[in-house]
Amino acid sequence: MNTNIYGSKITRLIEEFSKLPGIGHKTAQRLAFYLLSQPASRAESLADAIVGARHGAMYCSICCNITDVDPCAICSSARRDKSLIMVVETPKDLAAYENTNNYSGLYHVLHGAINPIAGIRPEHIKAAELVRRLGNMKDEVKEVILATNTTVEGEATAVYISKLLAPLGVTVSRIAHGIPVGGDLEYVDAVTLIRALEGRRGM
Ligand code: ZN
Repeated sequence: MNTNIYGSKITRLIEEFSKLPGIGHKTAQRLAFYLLSQPASRAESLADAIVGARHGAMYCSICCNITDVDPCAICSSARRDKSLIMVVETPKDLAAYENTNNYSGLYHVLHGAINPIAGIRPEHIKAAELVRRLGNMKDEVKEVILATNTTVEGEATAVYISKLLAPLGVTVSRIAHGIPVGGDLEYVDAVTLIRALEGRRGM
């Protein structure tokens, strides 16, 4: 296939789109042609949003969520229950629980789960950060809820973290199995997420 039929700039745009997850060549082409059909200000606004978000993005120094203000909006909110910390694998899992409007505690984002086959070891996830955080605010925190996925990796990570936190004497619980085994939290409906949270058990 001759991909350079549109000239190098348009071809580059199509190639950049097709590097994004879930975007094949046809979709990339569709997105590129859509943008080119719009006023130039639309493209400038999109480019500006991408560059701005990328340059401003960092991990919250408290919960490790992705944010452009530190501490993030959740950690700095006076309305959150600081006695609860829910541990999730990804910012998307955090968003799934936020969208239930049924949890008002804080979070801790691990950015992954332990997976020896893929070479993801305990030191590659934000587990040490959680231990440090609890060391600083142990008296405030009454419970740590492990809401990692119900995959093999998620379960292994939950067990690892519960052992890591045991010496700190804080209550550690695991969300209940309303969530299908092998399930990614971000695709689970709100009612199931709420039931899983309410049915959590001590570890
Ligand atoms: Zn935060």
